[in-house]
Amino acid sequence: MKDISAEILTWALLLFFISLYFTPYIIAIGNKKKAAGAIGALNILFGWTLVGWVVALFWAMNKEVSVPHTPAPRLMDTFPPLLTASTEKQCPDCAGMVPAEATKCRFCASDLTVLRTAQRQESNSR
Ligand SMILES: [Zn+2]
Repeated sequence: MKDISAEILTWALLLFFISLYFTPYIIAIGNKKKAAGAIGALNILFGWTLVGWVVALFWAMNKEVSVPHTPAPRLMDTFPPLLTASTEKQCPDCAGMVPAEATKCRFCASDLTVLRTAQRQESNSR
């Protein structure tokens, strides 16, 4: 008569060693490691050498090396903000762009406080 309990024990031991053998891979998956596949490959291929198993285990348990995210310096921080179209006005005499607050054109030195369009008479247009 066959001893069934001994057979169960053998299978239980075998299952235990198989699960023990794949422990690094299981931990890697549990840790949601990106290299879980590579750890699994190392585990399966070199796990039997024990050294490979230990390496895979440490790799699996190792905290994910997170590269500190340094935000790239924005262009607006490194350079003074450029004058946008809304902060500039066009000189009616020389058509040069001057700041909206300017009272005198920096190119032709014409007075910008008065409305020039009304003064653009025939003498200007040939
Ligand atoms: Zn001007």
